[in-house]
Amino acid sequence: MTTEELDPFKISQEQLDTAAGIMKLDPAAHALLREPMQTLTVNIPVKMRDGKTRTFQGFRVHYNTARGPAKGGIRYHPQENISTVKALAAWMTWKCSLADIPLGGGKGGVICDPKSMNDEELENLSRAYVRSIGRFIGPKVDVPAPDVYTTPQIMAWMMDEYSKLEGHDEFGVITGKPVEVWGSQGRFDSTALGAMFVLREAAKLHKINMKNAKVAIQGFGNAGGFAFELVKKLGAKVVAISDSSGGVYSKAGLDYQKLSEQKKKTGELSGIKGVEKLTNEELLELDVDVLIPAALENQITGANADRLKARMVLELANGPVTPEADRILFEKKVPDYPDFLVNSGGVIVSYFEWAQNTQNWYWTEDEVNKKLEGIMVRSFNSVIDTQAKFAKQGARISPRMGAYIVAVDRVAKAMKARGWY
Ligand code: GLU
Repeated sequence: MTTEELDPFKISQEQLDTAAGIMKLDPAAHALLREPMQTLTVNIPVKMRDGKTRTFQGFRVHYNTARGPAKGGIRYHPQENISTVKALAAWMTWKCSLADIPLGGGKGGVICDPKSMNDEELENLSRAYVRSIGRFIGPKVDVPAPDVYTTPQIMAWMMDEYSKLEGHDEFGVITGKPVEVWGSQGRFDSTALGAMFVLREAAKLHKINMKNAKVAIQGFGNAGGFAFELVKKLGAKVVAISDSSGGVYSKAGLDYQKLSEQKKKTGELSGIKGVEKLTNEELLELDVDVLIPAALENQITGANADRLKARMVLELANGPVTPEADRILFEKKVPDYPDFLVNSGGVIVSYFEWAQNTQNWYWTEDEVNKKLEGIMVRSFNSVIDTQAKFAKQGARISPRMGAYIVAVDRVAKAMKARGWY
């Protein structure tokens, strides 16, 4: 039995505290950065298909807005809770800062089970959520986006509802919209594409040959699904992938098309001839070159980190590795690239979308992807340079701490310049 802390917000605070110690952060800045600036809880009445009204609880958090409006997705999940939303909002703050884009950090969530709701109920809930948090969001205040179980369609409904509240179109209130209502080209797979630029650079650095490299991905959603095909473009093969119902394994490499069809038909990935079944836990412990957790938080913990055999971990999900697991991987010298670096491609293209909506001037997919690549490589290098700077002083720090130091320093300097401390 592990007594490890698994509360996401406490984990995010612990990570910040460790970084603050290493970088000797001013105590006033540290205190400001340990808590969100604003937290909103709402109760939302929604008419369901049986004619009855159900009340849903929702949240929206502004973690820090020193560098610009709050930015971050909205999650629909049965286990959603305020602690997770606060942690995710903190990680968004570091994500936008590390990418050096002019946005702060925020996050939202609604406790609901989207899998059991039909489109009409989802639309009613999404519009009602926006009416509840309408005063709290806006293109100059807080700009939401998709996350776990929320989609471009949901973003379109939310943009439409906000525009009705304002009395005019306000496309820049939310990102991750369909392109028909001025979403950005390239937004749909930007999280996975950004991660592939990090993977390419990290593989070079750690001398992992991606040609025929073995990759395991946990998650088949917005991030993991797109990562599958992109990994193959680097020459690697995906030997295992999973969703919430479990995973599949093939030594020769899996076929994305077949898996998607299987999932559509049966609701599960398993059942294809010649493909073995495995659990989510087994997937994490496979002997692979690269392990990509792309599902939910707290997957690699003090209880299983020791058994990991991957040569490198790339955190495509938010918060998949706990601090205890972090320490174990660090001791084992397994490089673990943190969430707010690896999955920042999503919010970077969200920033492009917001900028395009604001100036009413639209870019091609090629332009978007080139700009994304530039920022991802710059962020990766800033982490590596920070690690190298500390190594020169005789201190070995992890990629996560390198990323924290860059990100926290920028937010602290912005707060200082604004006279907040
Ligand atoms: N939900 C994504 C994330 O966690 C994207 C956020 C955004 O585009 O604002 O980074």
